Amino acid sequence: MQRLKECLNQIEGKGYRAYKQLAGRYRFDNFCLSVDHVQGDPYALPSRISIQVDGVQHGLPAELWSTRVRQTALEDFLGRAIAGAIGTHVKGRRGTGHSGQIRIATSGQQILRRNAVLVEGSSIEARLLLALPADGRSARVSDARAMFFDELPQLVAEGLLYPGRDLAPLYRQVEQVEDQDYLRNWLVEAQAVAFVADHSLLPRHSGIDDRPLVAGVPFDSPESLRHKVALPNSGEISGMLIPRGVTLIVGGGFHGKSTLLQALERGVYNHLPGDGRELVVTTATAVKIRAEDHRAICRVDISPFIGTLPGNRSTEDFSTDNASGSTSQAANIIEALECGADCLLIDEDTSATNFMIRDQRMQQLVSSEQEPITPLLHRVRELYEVEGVSCVIVTGGSGDYLAVADRVIMLDNYIPCDVSDRAAQLAGEPPPRASAKGPLDSDRKRPFDAGRFDSRRSDGKQRIDVREPKLIDYGCHRIDLNRVEQLVDRGQTEAIGRLLDYSVRQYAGHPDGLIGALQQALQDVEGQGLDILFPWKVGHLAMPRYYELAAAANRMRLDG
Ligand code: ADP
Ligand code: MG
Repeated sequence: MQRLKECLNQIEGKGYRAYKQLAGRYRFDNFCLSVDHVQGDPYALPSRISIQVDGVQHGLPAELWSTRVRQTALEDFLGRAIAGAIGTHVKGRRGTGHSGQIRIATSGQQILRRNAVLVEGSSIEARLLLALPADGRSARVSDARAMFFDELPQLVAEGLLYPGRDLAPLYRQVEQVEDQDYLRNWLVEAQAVAFVADHSLLPRHSGIDDRPLVAGVPFDSPESLRHKVALPNSGEISGMLIPRGVTLIVGGGFHGKSTLLQALERGVYNHLPGDGRELVVTTATAVKIRAEDHRAICRVDISPFIGTLPGNRSTEDFSTDNASGSTSQAANIIEALECGADCLLIDEDTSATNFMIRDQRMQQLVSSEQEPITPLLHRVRELYEVEGVSCVIVTGGSGDYLAVADRVIMLDNYIPCDVSDRAAQLAGEPPPRASAKGPLDSDRKRPFDAGRFDSRRSDGKQRIDVREPKLIDYGCHRIDLNRVEQLVDRGQTEAIGRLLDYSVRQYAGHPDGLIGALQQALQDVEGQGLDILFPWKVGHLAMPRYYELAAAANRMRLDG
């Protein structure tokens, strides 16, 4: 601490670059500070610092991080505690550029594995960004002193030091997350794809605010689908179990169908206590499928849904830089199957109509020889019965799906009821199957075209930049993930960019091609931590799912 004071004294009155000499480790009363990288100027990315506290200093019992799930929940809690303390104690911008700001990366409503706070052995490390203050191009040492000696100790005290403090909120989060994880694993034995606990609050504050709508109508499961399950920490709960198979969600417009489906999409992640969806869980490999016109597609066999295109274009090895609604939705399904998805979540609001259905009259007018598309309607049973892949489909407009559904849930003023029996009476004949069109999940392995995944620009410099939460500038390419709806955090996008590069470097020759390489890369990160993705210490990464990683690789444009 004394050394840092002296160092700052020497910088007084000097230019900004004099801050460079701050790099190093310093011992404070209750923690160690290490200045890992000093920014070159006040407009650059802020300096990276990390804080270490040992077991005696933080005072937390080891049971709070005794499993991977608990550890992630604890790390998340500590990161948010520091972020909260930043809001209270840090004065914020003072001086030129980013001067005076302190930041730590945290998640939104989800609890993700990140590298902003890491429990290692019995010590804890937190990684922050600290923008060293400047007046124009000169160091503003008085403010730097305030940041290091007043603000930082307060952040550490509030966020990381717990001796003598009430640990109830930490236990609540750790146990709550453990319950969510248990519930998701239990789905396998219950042969189900999702569970929505009674009293859950599904609607969100607004379209751009993921916090709960407090005045919303709480979820109330229909008797026939109600199940009870005993959780390790919270005891017995009840709620709606969605078994495997084909499930329809129907109901009038604005009755909450899409809201339920969106909660299921997010149910692959754990949520904060109090989110309202903390006991809404979906099988971990559920994938949202939507139409995504204009996306790029590279060498995907979409022939199960789309036959020969105009101009005799084959679809067994299909590439385009500008997909249509139906071809994009077909590719999204085939790619999800390639990654081992066991449940597809589909909303007609975001689907291509001609991909979903083709009605009687249209079949009469346009002969099947002319129409390359086999709608999902004709393959959804096979998808479940042959491939074991379930579907949850929101539909308000098409009664045709009644004939292929295992159950139908109707939302009436946000309250679900089971209308399967009545739907079966109305359903009529099931539509003819189209299984003659080749298997849905061929075992074809797409090659890993390493050149296309080169992260260097034409001038030879590496570029993996995330300027917007769902956009990666990668080498000469731009990867647009804006319509990959289960990607929820900028830190995941950052990790995905790095993972693509890591996959090429480590596994370009993987015997299972592209998908095998990505899977292996993600397994490495799961086993060894996000830190393997960077040559130096950073704290802004969050763990993506395998599907979203593959989604990025799949959306790489051919032409840059
Ligand atoms: P649908 O897809 O059936 O047309 P949405 O799911 O889009 O309907 O919901 C319509 C509106 O109702 C949205 O503004 C949503 O936030 C709100 N909403 C959904 N579920 C609830 C609920 N349980 N309580 C209160 N409002 C809700
Ligand atoms: Mg809707």
